Amino acid sequence: MVLLYIHDEVSPGLRARGGASKWWLGKSLAEHARQIEYTGGRLTIRAGGAEEVLIDIIAETGATSVFWNRRYGSAERTIDTDLKAMLRKGEMNVSTFNGRLLTEPWDITTGASTPYKVFTPYWKALKSTYRAPPVLAAPKALSGPVLKSQAIESLGLQPTNPDWSGGLEATWHPGEAGAIERLWEFLEGSINTYAQDRNRPDLEGGTSRLSPHLHFGEISPAQVWRAVQHGISAGKFDESNAMTFLSELVWREFSYVLLYYNPDLATENYNSDFDLLPWRADCDAVKSWRAGQTGYPIVDAGMRQLWHTGYMHNRVRMIVASFLTKHLLQQWQVGEDWFWDTLVDADPAANAASWQWTAGSGADAAPYFRVFNPITQGQKFDPHGTYVRRWCPELSFLPDKVLHTPWEADSDTLKEAGITLGTTYPKPIVDHATARQRALDAYDTLKEKR
Ligand code: FAD
Repeated sequence: MVLLYIHDEVSPGLRARGGASKWWLGKSLAEHARQIEYTGGRLTIRAGGAEEVLIDIIAETGATSVFWNRRYGSAERTIDTDLKAMLRKGEMNVSTFNGRLLTEPWDITTGASTPYKVFTPYWKALKSTYRAPPVLAAPKALSGPVLKSQAIESLGLQPTNPDWSGGLEATWHPGEAGAIERLWEFLEGSINTYAQDRNRPDLEGGTSRLSPHLHFGEISPAQVWRAVQHGISAGKFDESNAMTFLSELVWREFSYVLLYYNPDLATENYNSDFDLLPWRADCDAVKSWRAGQTGYPIVDAGMRQLWHTGYMHNRVRMIVASFLTKHLLQQWQVGEDWFWDTLVDADPAANAASWQWTAGSGADAAPYFRVFNPITQGQKFDPHGTYVRRWCPELSFLPDKVLHTPWEADSDTLKEAGITLGTTYPKPIVDHATARQRALDAYDTLKEKR
């Protein structure tokens, strides 16, 4: 058996991976190759178009069957469908599997056989029918021909000049072992308080941090589901908290339903009414947002966490996304693109669906008039300022009372905290009330234009 990874950056329509994803992929491949070698096998790595590489491998080995896991992005589906047709024409056996999702996007439909567009009924339908398959043991021994294989280092996945990956390296353990470790840590620790702690970026381990492992297929959602169900049945996990966690896993599924039926999800408004929204194009504002220099501490903390670790807490993702699309009135695609480049869990379905959800243009989206208030959100979800102080250390000595509103601190307080607004920490780049009203006015014009 040949275990093959095709590093395809050339087939038409594929979106280039972001920097953080490339970093993860390199580490994950190395781990995977090591694991295969322990059992006597070898991972063959080839760069090139999927079709050309497969034709070469078949010619070299005389293979008669090909197996792979299905992909759901538009370009990937086209590539895989063409491949399947080409191989079958050559009388090859081709079998494809679902390794990425609990259920296929087309499996669960409404009574009218249409795809779900609203999350809650989808979640109800899935949880009432889904049964996770048993987890199969890994093969004990692997063997196969030793073929020409490219070194992982030659794929250009690791950043050099400069190497900015130190924060990622310190935060993550890519690979299957890291994924299992994360799952057990979460199940042994915070699952029983998940429903309330999942909104607290200041708490270490309030959520599972499984997203990049799930994205790269190092653990399957079925494995996670099964482990959680087992804990519920054994009376080990509080059912309500555990089900809240599973429902988040199903948001991931729902995102894939949206992507499957809306292949342009990452570029086009799901709700085309939003095509008429008078977005602004303010490069300086976007630069400040990306750099975590907006003057709103919870926004800046989130953007710096992202830059340093390749991850941002979900609550803060919603706050920064709302800030970009509503306070700054920038197109959500600008933010989606930045997240695509910087997140280790950058995912074609979850990222696009979540950005559209926050902007208001998505399926089952947050209503357009819901503008997250970065001050009260910070005060509520980071009440002691632990998260802000960690990522914006220049604000460390501000008292809690003004930590989320440094511009309200009097001059003595600022001086004692060693802060000069506009120098050591920015003044707010927009006034909250004014920016909120501007967003509401812009969204109001949609109603007039419709
Ligand atoms: P947990 O709370 O432990 O949840 C368990 C799993 O459920 C996650 O690992 C993830 O796979 C899934 N999940 C949780 N929330 C969501 C959600 N809202 N939508 C889809 N799946 C979810 N998630 C990504 O995996 N990739 C992305 O590129 C991504 N981009 C996002 C962009 C924005 C603007 C927003 C608001 C959210 C985004 N999310 C994305 C969803 C969510 O923020 C992350 O999945 C979550 O923060 C990952 O942390 P965790 O593994 O600790 O999550």
